Amino acid sequence: DMCRITPDMIDNLANKSFPPCMRHLNDTLRTTHHLKYNGRLVYGLFLKAAGLNLEDALFFWRSHFLQNMDVDTFDKRYSYGIRYNYGKEGKKTDFSPYGCLKIIMSNVAPGDSHGCPFKHTDAIILRQRLAAYKVSNQTIEEIMELVNKRHYQIACQRYWEAIHGVPIDAGINHPNQFFEESHKFLN
Ligand code: SF4
Repeated sequence: DMCRITPDMIDNLANKSFPPCMRHLNDTLRTTHHLKYNGRLVYGLFLKAAGLNLEDALFFWRSHFLQNMDVDTFDKRYSYGIRYNYGKEGKKTDFSPYGCLKIIMSNVAPGDSHGCPFKHTDAIILRQRLAAYKVSNQTIEEIMELVNKRHYQIACQRYWEAIHGVPIDAGINHPNQFFEESHKFLN
């Protein structure tokens, strides 16, 4: 594998190198100390594919969730799902992380944090979020125009280019590909 990541790296990587879908899941986890089932699944599989091992994943999720609950509750309710993502429970499948199409096509209810922000996030909130990510006004306008035309992955490519300050050859089709292109560029 191209890299291994550890829990202490995640917040910094989320800001520099994660796509908006995963950056938002990380921000939600940081501010609420919780993610709903689909968020845990999608973000957990992304982190696994990004190079977070099972032991570190348990530590990472526990460190957030324990701000709302005790260890026993965490172990009973949540550690199974994390081990499951790593193929250590149930059918023991080594699950693949979700690609953009699967995320874009997924059902997202109000209050859910998973999904593709370009597809599922209200335009006003998306604009505010991009501004908070330090994307320039001009680029935000370009991105919103792409979003209006339902070119969600091209909008994501513009975001990648905006935060890295260089063009990218490849289109964005997978959150882990977004991350890997960033990692390649920054290292
Ligand atoms: Fe995530 Fe793909 Fe949407 Fe980008 S286009 S935010 S990588 S789902």
